[in-house]
Amino acid sequence: MSRSVLVTGGNRGIGLAIARAFAAQGDKVAVTHRGSGAPEGLLGVKCDVTSADEVDAAFAEVEAAHGPVEVVVANAGITDDTLLLRMSDEQFTRVLDANLTGAFRVAKRASRGMLRKRYGRIVFISSVVGQMGGAGQVNYAASKAGMVGVARSIARELGSRNITANVVAPGFVTTDMTDALPDDRKQQILAQVPAGRYGTTEEIAAAVTFLASDAAAYITGAVLPVDGGLGMGH
Ligand code: NDP
Repeated sequence: MSRSVLVTGGNRGIGLAIARAFAAQGDKVAVTHRGSGAPEGLLGVKCDVTSADEVDAAFAEVEAAHGPVEVVVANAGITDDTLLLRMSDEQFTRVLDANLTGAFRVAKRASRGMLRKRYGRIVFISSVVGQMGGAGQVNYAASKAGMVGVARSIARELGSRNITANVVAPGFVTTDMTDALPDDRKQQILAQVPAGRYGTTEEIAAAVTFLASDAAAYITGAVLPVDGGLGMGH
């Protein structure tokens, strides 16, 4: 297996673990970054997913180097937490633009080549918060819940062309994003996780490579939680 794989935000955190997992199984992997460059062994393409033009240019670069993108992982994401009453329109739309509209731009651009090839695997990195909600996370939760609607609509539109669209919903994983949380909030979250620990980036990556594998060819429109049981019942 040596497919052309693109992971947005694959320069660090969960995205990097996903990129490395695909590379380890022999795929040709490109990652987007916003100026940091790509880690060793991965093709780096500069791209801010809030710009459709940058998304288009990044895909063109990957296509020239590795061929049409066959597996795309919409992983790039941000948080900008604050309580509802304090959240500005700008804070809401900025997070939606990066997380949800960004994922839409990436999936849309990827679908072009996938339709031609009659093969494609699209994976969206959502969050347990998309289903459970999170105090102070109206913007983030909305963006992550929206991904489910996007994925399921794509699953219906493109299912007959051998293109799947699935969602991975991580729980609490230790990365720069979660390091930024205050300690008491971290302890609070941990107390609710049946597994009693944080997840690792590799555990998220394993779910993503599975959904992109031949073994998962009949799975589409699914939401796969990788959260130590935190979101059960949703
Ligand atoms: P990090 O903050 O460690 O990394 C975020 C990544 O997204 C970086 O590569 C960053 O690029 C990229 N990014 C952010 N905004 C943009 C943008 N506008 N255009 C292109 N790239 C962008 O986060 P994580 O690795 O923790 O999170 C990865 C994904 O997993 C996110 O979607 C997050 O919501 C989700 N997630 C994380 C959880 C966790 O516990 N960590 C739990 C549930 C979901 P750059 O380096 O240029 O800033």
